[in-house]
Amino acid sequence: MAGLLAARVLTDAYDEVTIVDRDELAGSGARRGVPQGRHVHGLLARGQQILDELFPGFTARAVAAGVPTGDLGELRWFFNGRPLRRASTGLVCVSGSRPLLEAQVRDAVAALPGLRLRDGCDIVGLVTTEDRSRITGVRVHPAGAADEEVIPADLVVDATGRGSRAPVWLAELGYRRPAETRVPIDLVYTTRHYRLRDEGILHGDLSINPVSTPSHPRGAFFSRIQDGRSVLSLTGVLGDHPPADERGFLDFVRSLPVPDIFDVIRDAEPLDDPVSFRYPASVRRHYERLDRLPAGFLVLGDALCSFNPVYGQGMTVAALEALTLREHLRTGLAPRPGEFFRDAARVVDVPWDISAGSDLSFPGVVGPRPPKVRIANAYMSRVQAAAVRDGAVTRSFMRVAGLVDPPTDLMRPRMMWRVLTQARGVAPAPARPVEQTTVGD
Ligand SMILES: Cc1cc2nc3c(=O)[nH]c(=O)nc-3n(C[C@H](O)[C@H](O)[C@H](O)COP(=O)(O)OP(=O)(O)OC[C@H]3O[C@@H](n4cnc5c(N)ncnc54)[C@H](O)[C@@H]3O)c2cc1C
Repeated sequence: MAGLLAARVLTDAYDEVTIVDRDELAGSGARRGVPQGRHVHGLLARGQQILDELFPGFTARAVAAGVPTGDLGELRWFFNGRPLRRASTGLVCVSGSRPLLEAQVRDAVAALPGLRLRDGCDIVGLVTTEDRSRITGVRVHPAGAADEEVIPADLVVDATGRGSRAPVWLAELGYRRPAETRVPIDLVYTTRHYRLRDEGILHGDLSINPVSTPSHPRGAFFSRIQDGRSVLSLTGVLGDHPPADERGFLDFVRSLPVPDIFDVIRDAEPLDDPVSFRYPASVRRHYERLDRLPAGFLVLGDALCSFNPVYGQGMTVAALEALTLREHLRTGLAPRPGEFFRDAARVVDVPWDISAGSDLSFPGVVGPRPPKVRIANAYMSRVQAAAVRDGAVTRSFMRVAGLVDPPTDLMRPRMMWRVLTQARGVAPAPARPVEQTTVGD
C-alpha cells in the first residue's frame, strides 16, 4: 500500500516510476508478501479522504465493487464492555477486504502514465556511486532467473514493509542503522470468514467492534465486507492469544466482553479455517535521527513505522506519508532524505502517540511511561466512558482516532467538561461468565 501510494505521487514528478514487488501482483486475493491481508483491515477516515483525493472516485468504485460503507460513528463500538453512544460523524467507513482495497488502488496506479510494474522480482540490495554517497538503483532477482539485474533510479523509495532490510543495507554501506523504538504488545490476530444466513441479524450494522482495553483485553472486529461475506478477527494480547482451532476459536468468541459477535456467527456458514498472525511489537525506526544518509533513498510505510494494527492506522499513515513526499517533490528538486525523514517523523508522531501510548495503558507492556503518557491514558479512559453516554464525545473521539482531527480537539475546555462530567459513574462492565464450547454447538 505504501509503495502504491508513493508511486502515485512520484508519477507527478518523474517520467518513469517502477514498482518492484516479489509477489506476482494480479487479482484481489490474499498473497504471500502481505500475510496480514487475510485479517480485518479498517481504513481510517483520513485514509479514505486521501485515497479519494489521490484517486478521484475511489470510494464510489469500491462501492460499485460491492464494498459496504457506513458512518464511522454509527458502527457498534464497545470499549471496556460498554457500547458507545452512536453519533453521526460524516466520516465514511469503507469496509472492504485488504486484498480488494489494495487491488483497487493498484489498478488505479497501474493506469498512470510512466508507471511500470515489475512483479515477481525480489529486491536484494542497493546500488551506489563509488563513494557510496548516493543510491543509484536496486539489485533485483527476478523469479526463475539465474542472475540478478540492476534497476537504475534517480530515487529509490523503500516500501517493503515491516521486514525492510534497509537498516542492514545502510550498515553494509558504512552508514549507521536507525535507532528503533519498540513497544512489545505480543498480539495475535486470528481470523475467519463467514457468510451470514440472514444479514437481518445485524440490524443494519456494518460492524461490531469490542475493542481490546486493559479492563477487557480480549477484543474483536467483525465486519461485513464485499461479496456478501463477513470477516471476524479476534485479537489477544500479552500471551493470551486467540486459538486457530475450531473449538478454541469459538471459546474465545464466547469470552469476548459482549455476546453480540457470538450471537451473529453461531448460525453463520464458516467459509475457511481460522488463520493466525503474530505481531510481537510496534516498531518505529528513527531515520530522522541519522546525521548522515545517502542521497536518493527514502523509506516509508511499515518499513518506517509499524503500528499495533488494532488502531487501524498503517494504511492511513502510509497515505499521509505519500502526501509528505508529494510536498517534497513540489519543490521541483530531488527530495532531501534528512528533510523528508524529519517531516515524515512529524506525520508519524500523532498516530504513534495514540497507539504506542495506548498500549502502555496495559500494565503488562514493558516501556517507559512518562507523565504525558499516563495523563493521556487516564484521560482517554474517561473519553471512552463519556462516549457511552454522549454522542458528541463519540463524534470527537472517532474524528481523532480516524486521524481527521488532532488529539488536542478532545482537550478543548468545553469537550473536557463534557468528558469529565459524563464519564462520572461509568465503570468498565463486569466480566461475563464464559461457557465452554463443544465442537458442533
Ligand atoms: C494483522 C494486521 C492487521 C492490520 N490491520 C490494519 C487495519 O485495520 N488498517 C490499516 O490501515 N492497517 C492495518 N494493518 C497495517 C497494514 O497492513 C500496513 O500498515 C499497510 O499495508 C502499509 O504497509 P506497507 O505497504 O508499508 O507494507 P506491506 O503492506 O507489508 O507491503 C510490503 C510489500 O513489499 C513487498 N516486499 C517485501 N520485501 C520485498 C523485497 N525484498 N523485494 C520485493 N518486494 C518486497 C511485499 O511483497 C509487499 O507487497 C494491519 C497489519 C496487521 C499485521
